[in-house]
Amino acid sequence: MTVLRTAERAFDFDVPVVIVGAGAAGLTAALAARDAGAEVLLLERDAHPRGSTSMSQGYACAAGTKIQRDKGIDDDPDKFYADIMARTKGTADPLTARTVADQSGPTVDWLVERHAIPFQMNISWAGFFGHTVNRLHGVPTRTGEELHGSLIRAAEDAGVTLVTGAHVDAIFADADGVVSGVRVRRKDGGEERIGCKALVLTTCGFGANHDMVRDHIPSFGSAPYYRYFGHEGNEGEGIRFGVELGGAIGCMDAYQGYGALAEPYGIIVNYDMVMQGAITVNVEGKRFSNENADISGQALNVLRQPDGIGWIVFDDARRQIVADLPEYRELAALGAVRSAETADALADLIKVPREALARTLEETARMAAGELACPFGRDFTQHPPLSGPLHAIKTTGALFHTQGGLKVDAGARVLREDGTPLPNLLAGGGTACSISGNGVDGYLPAAGLATAITLGRLAGTTAADLAAA
Ligand SMILES: Cc1cc2nc3c(=O)[nH]c(=O)nc-3n(C[C@H](O)[C@H](O)[C@H](O)COP(=O)(O)OP(=O)(O)OC[C@H]3O[C@@H](n4cnc5c(N)ncnc54)[C@H](O)[C@@H]3O)c2cc1C
Repeated sequence: MTVLRTAERAFDFDVPVVIVGAGAAGLTAALAARDAGAEVLLLERDAHPRGSTSMSQGYACAAGTKIQRDKGIDDDPDKFYADIMARTKGTADPLTARTVADQSGPTVDWLVERHAIPFQMNISWAGFFGHTVNRLHGVPTRTGEELHGSLIRAAEDAGVTLVTGAHVDAIFADADGVVSGVRVRRKDGGEERIGCKALVLTTCGFGANHDMVRDHIPSFGSAPYYRYFGHEGNEGEGIRFGVELGGAIGCMDAYQGYGALAEPYGIIVNYDMVMQGAITVNVEGKRFSNENADISGQALNVLRQPDGIGWIVFDDARRQIVADLPEYRELAALGAVRSAETADALADLIKVPREALARTLEETARMAAGELACPFGRDFTQHPPLSGPLHAIKTTGALFHTQGGLKVDAGARVLREDGTPLPNLLAGGGTACSISGNGVDGYLPAAGLATAITLGRLAGTTAADLAAA
């Protein structure tokens, strides 16, 4: 991939707004640009758009939405901004944090009302991992596939031209950084040159580019337990294009981890049951963390255990919380859920020492009764202790997606180091610097898709304005 500096315009055809990458950010940008009256070409390198969006659980956090108001939830942009800053200890990019806090609510309302995206509230996340109120909006099946499918259908309905199997491997720009078009490489080696007036980069982050992870997140990228579980197309191409064009980058060491990925199935274990009382033990049958302190940092807690393994142990009551979700049903069908009538039988089944597991369960029951303090600081008193038949799923931790990227302004225009915007380059989703500050523990649940849809919408609107000027 490269930026080709030329003042010439020699293109096969021209489209006012070109968007690269058909995940949540690119599709939302395309919808916004169409709503603003622009003709849009959305280019996707895969034969079938998946991206990290399809792999996700489809939750986006947003403040002050109509859905929240209907549920009587009192939230607003200032509360969301305060939560972002508290979670990141003030290290989040303040401009993007403000933009996402202000614009995420209107973005969800717009997607629901104008484009029939079936967002609903998940009301079990207030007080967890930095959200002081319930602001997670998800689709009914709680899968990214459903969200992604809804966005693709909406884009088709809105008249977006989506071309798949179209890998953008070069950008044309003049000496002043004005982008004039892109080069598309086809699988058969063929190429097309497409001119544009505004270019939106939504190729996500760089989790699939091990060299970039090693450079920017050395503590994870160089660790023996390095493991990436996002989309393989997240190679950081958009970020590198932006940097070559003079864009500034921020928070490149930030990332979202996840400590509950079923091993070896690579299926997400929904965290709601852990939030409501399930525990995680290592192969020695011992707890090793406050499972509810940091959903992202829990990835490192698990990966640092023997074999990088944590068994999530739960009972029928906790199973009920997730039993109807497609991912749980899939895990059950694959035999990933081990079940036994007693703690000893479960210990034998999952090959952890009986005495250790029994002691762990006995101690957590005492913590739930308020008789014992959790050595890791978890409050067990909100939920009844595990009881009756027990179940366990083997899990590991992984890097899900990177959070650093191109710095953007309130209209998603890519900024130079001096804070001025590049003439006609925009970025959204994982390609832009997110709202997670530095490191692994600044990630607020559902901030990835919040950034994708919010900056996507703003990028699409700005691109349409630039193209019309
Ligand atoms: C397992 C998992 C679960 C997650 N769960 C959640 C969640 O519930 N809530 C949340 O907020 N976040 C979640 N995330 C993160 C979330 O998925 C991402 O933040 C979000 O999907 C990013 O959207 P995007 O549009 O930027 O990127 P993507 O959805 O990854 O889309 C980028 C697209 O660009 C394409 N592309 C890349 N380079 C090029 C190129 N040169 N030319 C053409 N196309 C290109 C890729 O093929 C890809 O389709 C999760 C992530 C993972 C991995």
